[in-house]
Amino acid sequence: MEEHLSLKEKEQAEEAMIQQAFQELLTDYLATKHRKRVEIITKAFNFANQAHRGIKRRSGEPYIMHPIAVAKIVCNEIGLGSTSICAALLHDVVEDTDYTVEDIENIFGHKIAQIVDGLTKISGGIFGDRASAQAENFKKLLLTMSDDIRVILIKIADRLHNMRTLGSMLPNKQYKIAGETLYIYAPLAHRLGLNRIKTELENLSFKYEHPEEYAEIEKKLAATAAERDKVFQEFTAPIRAQLDKMGLQYHILARVKSIYSIWNKMQTKHVPFEEIYDILAVRIVFKPRNMEEELNDCFDIYVAISKIYKPHPDRLRDWVSHPKSNGYQALHVTLMANNGQWIEVQIRSERMDDVAEQGFAAHWKYKEGGGGEDEGELERWLHTIKEILDDPQPDAIDFLDTIKLNLFASEIFVFTPKGDLKTMPQDSTALDFAFSLHTDIGTHCIGAKVNHKLVPLSHRLNSGDQVEILTSKAQRIQPEWVGFVTTARAKAKITEILRKEEKINQQKGEALLNEFLQKEGVPVDASSVDRLTNLHNFHTPDELMAAIGSGKLVLGDADRNLFKEKQGKNWKKLLSFSFVKDNKEGKDTKEEPKQEGKPEKIDTKKILKLTEEAISKDYIMAECCHPIPGDDVLGYIDEHNRVIIHKRQCPVAVKLKSSYGNRIIATEWDTHKDLSFLVTIYVRGIDGVGVLNEVTQVISRQLNVNIRKLVIDAIDGIFEGKIQLYVHDVDDVRTICNNLKQVQNVKEVARVED
Ligand code: MN
Repeated sequence: MEEHLSLKEKEQAEEAMIQQAFQELLTDYLATKHRKRVEIITKAFNFANQAHRGIKRRSGEPYIMHPIAVAKIVCNEIGLGSTSICAALLHDVVEDTDYTVEDIENIFGHKIAQIVDGLTKISGGIFGDRASAQAENFKKLLLTMSDDIRVILIKIADRLHNMRTLGSMLPNKQYKIAGETLYIYAPLAHRLGLNRIKTELENLSFKYEHPEEYAEIEKKLAATAAERDKVFQEFTAPIRAQLDKMGLQYHILARVKSIYSIWNKMQTKHVPFEEIYDILAVRIVFKPRNMEEELNDCFDIYVAISKIYKPHPDRLRDWVSHPKSNGYQALHVTLMANNGQWIEVQIRSERMDDVAEQGFAAHWKYKEGGGGEDEGELERWLHTIKEILDDPQPDAIDFLDTIKLNLFASEIFVFTPKGDLKTMPQDSTALDFAFSLHTDIGTHCIGAKVNHKLVPLSHRLNSGDQVEILTSKAQRIQPEWVGFVTTARAKAKITEILRKEEKINQQKGEALLNEFLQKEGVPVDASSVDRLTNLHNFHTPDELMAAIGSGKLVLGDADRNLFKEKQGKNWKKLLSFSFVKDNKEGKDTKEEPKQEGKPEKIDTKKILKLTEEAISKDYIMAECCHPIPGDDVLGYIDEHNRVIIHKRQCPVAVKLKSSYGNRIIATEWDTHKDLSFLVTIYVRGIDGVGVLNEVTQVISRQLNVNIRKLVIDAIDGIFEGKIQLYVHDVDDVRTICNNLKQVQNVKEVARVED
């Protein structure tokens, strides 16, 4: 049919589709509480539409469908207004067409132009080819964000739409984009409180990295849906009756755990789908009787429903009185249903629910005139990031790690001696707390009192601790402090000060050293300094000078003798000295990339076949995750043009994907069971006569597999063990695990990393 359409008819059909998509956006926008600025949105759309005219996405769609979709996400799923919608419509114009930021500013004004500029700056490397561009981009992303948070919100919307349409990309790009999403954007969305978007980003990444597992969990969820619905109806019926009696307006939702979260739990807890009991949660969203009673209503509902079902004593989470730093507020309680199952119930007001789903943007909905103190927590977070960026490190990857630390950690609450509440990342130490108060307090910290008891600087804090920091003017930062802190801010401060001190010590040391050499009549040159460095077993002259400068090393008779011996006899020392040096140089050249290797460049656009021959000769199985045939894997081409095979979920691979995405290559197994690979199987069960014997029998006799190592521990009637054995592929592992599960009293069997 389509072939018969003339070019003109085709264009008209496309234009009609574009106009319809835009009309949908306008309708959605007009349904919000925002100012009805239809005119400027229409202008932005018309401008973008003609700028992208004739350009297609990989899927074959007209390009403008992408900015419209991003604008829709920004409007409907994040809840932003006209400025953001315009910026979303225009977000790829400067990047992909001849228009400049000045053009945008002339037509749409400063604010929109500034946001588009921010989005353009951070879009560069995502599909670009520069190594580690992503890490650098991320840095810029955060910097820009502190100017206007809307830049990052629109960026997340852009990423969400790209993930939703990822199917039309090449496989190697899919891994790269999915990896970045999991490593950078999902945590960022979480940090900003965009929970629904975070969940979708995680699910989509997982779907592309492990399609089979995704489909399997999806199937199992569908198969158990009716049963969950029955439990939900029975469980909520008495709750509804009670809430009605209280005269509340509310709705109750069944919350099903996301596919990615289910998989994550299966991995970390080594349990099958059937043994995950918290797939169903219940959410009560109510309209407060009046705004002042909002918090009281939460607790009233809690009291009412814990009279119906027995609450779990340790599982009340009060995010109502102490909101999380991403703004999240709710009361979580776990109740025992009549069938004996624990079910989590989340109690939120409508406002709290909006904040949970849409993040900080939702605050603006409830704030007339915007701004206000609710942005304080977010501002403080942005400020921390800015501080780290003010002292940039040469290695962008390290930077990513520092940031990641803070993005992933959840919070604890601690009190100052005066009773002020402070939010800290989980695992923060007393020293972290000191640095969070003030750099000066951190620098001069000698100890802390936690709940009035003296503790060392490295003491880990718990929620609810009252912390008093003890300081002394005489105290100075020690190198080992780097290991005493977990927050990026404290770590960055300590290394910065240590580096500065080291520099000063080196300069001091250099002056002292020169003075010493002159006094001894020895030439002040590199060779003399090298000999002293060698004598005191330092790696570099800088280290020697720092030691002298700090007073740790005082030059004395041994040093004098070194130079006196030069005149006559001690040729032995000279010889050994030059030998050491030769050896060093030899080592250096060994580490140089081999030039004579294979010169041909590997084409990352093609799928690399992992044949048995190639695995044994050319490719390297990563030491970190030990992939075996059948695993979901990808290839990374290192700087020496070697292919290293990683599991897709390996943390190292995830990092490589986000930093060196252009070196990732899609791979496919093509093996014939000749090679053997080492895997580790974890078993756990109830200790009893003959269990271990049976386990080893299953492996060695029944399956005829070679065990390399077997470590078993039994404590209090439970045994736990790791078996290292040689297998051909994941099918072998599956057979072994299934057979081991048949052994009586074996409760848990899983393949683990090591
Ligand atoms: Mn885009």
